[in-house]
Amino acid sequence: MLSVEDARDRILSYFEPLDSVDVPLLDAVGLTLAEDLTAGFDIPPLANSAMDGYAVKSADVASASKFNPVLLPVLGYIAAGDVPQMPLSEGSAVRIMTGAPVPEGADAVVPFEDTDEEDRRSNGGDISEIGIRLDAESGDNIRPAGEDVRAGQTVIEYGAEITAGVVGVAASLGKTSVQAIRRPVIAIVSTGDELMEPGERREPGKIYNSNAYSIAALVEKYGGIARIIGIARDSIESLETMLEEAVENDMVVTSAGVSKGDYDVVKDVLSKNGEIALWSVRMRPAKPLAFGALNAPDGRKVPHLGVPGNPVSAMVAFEQFGRPAIRVMLGKAPLQKPTITATLDDPVYNHDGRRVYARVDVYKDDAGNYRARSTGNQSSGALHSMALARGFAICPDDVASVPAGTDAVVEILEWPDDDLLSDRIDHS
Ligand code: AMP
Ligand code: MG
Repeated sequence: MLSVEDARDRILSYFEPLDSVDVPLLDAVGLTLAEDLTAGFDIPPLANSAMDGYAVKSADVASASKFNPVLLPVLGYIAAGDVPQMPLSEGSAVRIMTGAPVPEGADAVVPFEDTDEEDRRSNGGDISEIGIRLDAESGDNIRPAGEDVRAGQTVIEYGAEITAGVVGVAASLGKTSVQAIRRPVIAIVSTGDELMEPGERREPGKIYNSNAYSIAALVEKYGGIARIIGIARDSIESLETMLEEAVENDMVVTSAGVSKGDYDVVKDVLSKNGEIALWSVRMRPAKPLAFGALNAPDGRKVPHLGVPGNPVSAMVAFEQFGRPAIRVMLGKAPLQKPTITATLDDPVYNHDGRRVYARVDVYKDDAGNYRARSTGNQSSGALHSMALARGFAICPDDVASVPAGTDAVVEILEWPDDDLLSDRIDHS
């Protein structure tokens, strides 16, 4: 039986980063930058004031102090966005606002609170001259041109993840869009005679197709675009029809039809229309897994991941194999979810040497230690306990159990903003 890592390696060898496209800034968050962001000009473009205050020549105020202010005539006022019309002449000051360009000749800005402006305002408001109470040093409160970014500088390099900060940098360079690796479009086909779509009137013996939606949700969570194609019935013709549309996309995910049952047509159709590998992976849940490449009419080979039908197995398989594939297509490293060590409240048993992924809630106890407890029924059909899980507690391959009270590695699926602090959760 293949290990999870070997299966993942084989699968990922079928994927590479997709092509890049021009993406509007706000749609690019989380994508991989596919160009260098290079500055065409200095930022800030001109030396400007870091404070509201008075621009002066530091030499003129060298003798100033709180009780011996230096009096200077005020020649004008410069607001943010203004362009100073003339240089500052010796022995004078200009009132200036934060972000406004500093006039030539000024080498310091004295903040309002180090002047007598407030006293003047309460005594009639004459600020045709100003008392400077500080012996400002050259450069004080002045942001030089190019302090942040110099013209010609590569600010963000090809391959970086586009974060809010990168979006901000791109906007500051005047860009409205960036070149980014596009999102993969992933077609999802469910198989099974027993399935009906949510929203349809319930019929005896049928169940709603949940896999398409849980997988689509994971696709979108991890940066792909989910395209739910529909339900194929347990016949070769029906599945072939669905796959015609599915292969127009970057990847195909099918659910069910990969175990050894009578109606498991996925493997038949795939071996007929592409290359298919059917594996048993040393994991629980999600042992049966199909993977291969489908032949598209345009000659492309479209990677195909066939996850098991049981709803938890489908999600576990997608987390372990679908997610890293999306990451590779997005130009990212195929990292696994982060792990922590947590003390188990409930044991995890391993009956047959397969690595177990147990659905757990994770929290911090009063001493600040991570703990993990089962979210309930661990059957591979019990989706409820999956919905409550923040992580998977792992019982390693060939380890018979991880007993309650001992530590386990936990893969974290959802790291909440409250950092797993226990006071928001009722663990009684
Ligand atoms: P199979 O792999 O076809 O043997 O299906 C295994 C189990 O998963 C059966 O109980 C199916 O009814 C269930 N199942 C298969 N496909 C879906 C689906 N799309 N949504 C929910 N349950 C499913
Ligand atoms: Mg079936």
